[in-house]
Parts: sequence; structure tokens; C-alpha cells
Amino acid sequence: MDKPCYCKSNKAFFQCCEPLLRVLKVPSTAEELMRSRYTAYCLGDVYYLQVTTHDHTWSDQELKFIQDWADNSIWQHLDVLQSSEDTVEFKAYYIFEGKQHMHHEKSRFIKVNDLWKYVDGEVYENKVKFMRNEPCVCGSGEKYKRCCFKKLQ
Ligand SMILES: [Zn+2]
Ligand SMILES: [Zn+2]
Repeated sequence: MDKPCYCKSNKAFFQCCEPLLRVLKVPSTAEELMRSRYTAYCLGDVYYLQVTTHDHTWSDQELKFIQDWADNSIWQHLDVLQSSEDTVEFKAYYIFEGKQHMHHEKSRFIKVNDLWKYVDGEVYENKVKFMRNEPCVCGSGEKYKRCCFKKLQ
């Protein structure tokens, strides 16, 4: 079976984000770019994150911070809630430093010379409870307590 894409698109990796990360193809929509950026977090590809960010050069310190965050997180799931031409609202689930996190953001994108770039995003700080008897956030079909909950400290 083909390896499923990290962005949970239900497509194969080689038909979804892989050609984008390898710069064999450019994203045709803001949502495709957003998904590929999530995949870049999963793979720790900070270079891709930087080149797809609009008008901002990261300092060494920022790069290191993002690299650490990407590398030391367990990326569990991506839910794209809605997308328009230049915005994508999503929830990303990950475990960092032994704690469960959910990042809910509405990101803005801009097309510059035919390339979609990430501009910024509005982050929603909603508190979520992760219920042990509910289906796991990673989409495994297992109960949370039998799945990702075990990776928490
Ligand atoms: Zn993908
Ligand atoms: Zn899980």
C-alpha cells in the first residue's frame, strides 16, 4: 500500500505533499500549501517552512526554535475546517514535551509571482478537553486512552 500523506488528505504521500516538499510541483491552492506546511512540520523540514513564509526571514534563534518544536513533537492529526481562496482554518494535534496540544488557527496566504505563501494567522486559544474514552485525535479508530494518551508523560 502507498504511504498515506502526513496531512491526512487520504491521498498517498507521493501524490499529495511529497512533490511539493521536493519542489517538483507548486501548490495550486492555499489549502494545498497549508497541508504541505503541516507535512513539513511532521518531517522537520524547516527550510520548506521558511521559503513558504511571506516576507519574513527567520533569525537563527527562530529557526532553531521551530526546528526543535517540529522535531520533538509527535504530529498526530490535521483537520482542515474550512478554506477560502486565501485563508485556511485548521486544527493541528500534536504532543510536545509529553503534553497534548491542539493548535487552532485561521491562516492567511498570499500569492506572489504565482507562488502561495503563508502570511500570518489568527490563533484561537480555545481550551479542549481530551476525553480518554473518546476516539483518539489521531484518527486511528482506537480510544484515546489506548492510543496517543499512552505517549503523554
Ligand atoms: Zn498531503
Ligand atoms: Zn492516537
